[in-house]
Amino acid sequence: MSTFSIENPATGATLRTLEADSPESVKTKLARARAGQSAWRARPLRERIEAIRRFRGAIERDKERLAAITTSEVGKPIAQSRNELNGLLGRVDFFLAESERTLAREEVMADGGMVELIEHEPLGVVANISAWNYPYFVGSNVFVPALIAGNAVLYKPSEHATLTGLALAEALHASGVPEDVFIPILGAGAIGAAVSDLPVDGIFFTGSYATGRKVAEAAGRSMTRVQLELGGKDPVYIADDVDPKAAAAGTADGAFYNAGQSCCAVERIYVHEAIADRFIEAFIEEVRGFKVGDPTDDTTYIGPLTRGAQLAVLEAQIADAKQKGATVALGGARLARPGHYFAPTVLTGVNGTMSVMREESFGPIIGIQRVKDDEQAVAAMNDTEYGLTAGVYTKDRARAERILSRVDAGSAYWNCCDRVSPRLPWSGRRHSGLGLTLSRYGILAFTKPKAWHLRSPG
Ligand code: NAD
Repeated sequence: MSTFSIENPATGATLRTLEADSPESVKTKLARARAGQSAWRARPLRERIEAIRRFRGAIERDKERLAAITTSEVGKPIAQSRNELNGLLGRVDFFLAESERTLAREEVMADGGMVELIEHEPLGVVANISAWNYPYFVGSNVFVPALIAGNAVLYKPSEHATLTGLALAEALHASGVPEDVFIPILGAGAIGAAVSDLPVDGIFFTGSYATGRKVAEAAGRSMTRVQLELGGKDPVYIADDVDPKAAAAGTADGAFYNAGQSCCAVERIYVHEAIADRFIEAFIEEVRGFKVGDPTDDTTYIGPLTRGAQLAVLEAQIADAKQKGATVALGGARLARPGHYFAPTVLTGVNGTMSVMREESFGPIIGIQRVKDDEQAVAAMNDTEYGLTAGVYTKDRARAERILSRVDAGSAYWNCCDRVSPRLPWSGRRHSGLGLTLSRYGILAFTKPKAWHLRSPG
């Protein structure tokens, strides 16, 4: 039996030590889930929807306790943990409202005695290997529609958000989702690898590109359906016709919210040279105003990084950028205090050869590059292996649409950024992922179609 510890990233203190799963226990859990799924699937859709409605009620009632759990193990500022829980309610509402219509049998032809129907059957048992940065969002994007559609779920929360994962399991079970239908699996990477080797009916992964590749390889070996929600290096272009102060406020929040640990955080800024000086000045002013501190304090905006190892990644990106000619306009180093704190950092004079403009930073750091026109902005925005989101700030919607239609990213933002909507498909291109969650399509992702060809006798 092996154990693992949950650390508070703000203090370094051990919060709890838990027993991890093993490759054997994971197989036993799959057998339980197989048995549980056939009974769950046989229940009327309305009953499954009602269980999720009770789950929503449980989350709403327990919001303060849940927010405190997440803040303790992820280090997310408490106000932002509460925001995530409020956002979760909105996402669940979408699935509650949309599932019945989306999962209904569709008659696509009726002619004489012949009828053609499409039925959306559940996949079966699906594995959900999850990330820590938005544990409520990235988990629920998968398990809520999966459960409603009649699947059983093997849920492996990130080792950095395990207590949150256990609290979600408790809430689902108390709401009428059987213990053999939603089964948590605990542990770190080795257990994630054991889960991706299981003969399940779908693997739904959220995490880094490096791990996503391994999961895709495992799924390829067994020809299992796989979805990957991976990282990003999301660009924003500030055109020359905007109010630099307003654009700076919006994009600084997009870059630094949750200490930059969002898959769709703004990770690169390109600014038109005509307003670059005013924009950079306003941006630095905005970031200077962010309060860094104890994540349990209601007024903290930037807390510690969740993983201590990421501090060295940020240091290496800054060293590389400086060596290639960038200027550290703000921050640039760890903070001398317990926990994984890094000073909010703004780099100027950057270019596309620097790792800070190429590799995901996942921290409170941003590079701002000047461009001479829209054409150069489009080329720079596309100069990446990632393709999650991209944004343009301009007064002119047609100009924004012209630019964004040429950027290879799953989501396009005009005068906004770092935004996810349950009504729209959430998908990454190339190294940012395969498949999608959210929207009607993100319900159908947990089903397989059965084509009915029905001919009446006589
Ligand atoms: P990670 O890849 O380190 O871990 C993700 C999950 O995979 C964890 O549960 C981990 O235990 C597990 N894992 C580790 N090694 C494994 C292996 N060999 N096989 C199978 N599973 C394994 O990622 P993370 O640090 O938890 O999350 C941060 C990353 O997630 C960032 O790149 C971020 O951009 C991305 N992310 C993407 C989205 C999206 O919607 N596109 C959302 C949130 C986070």
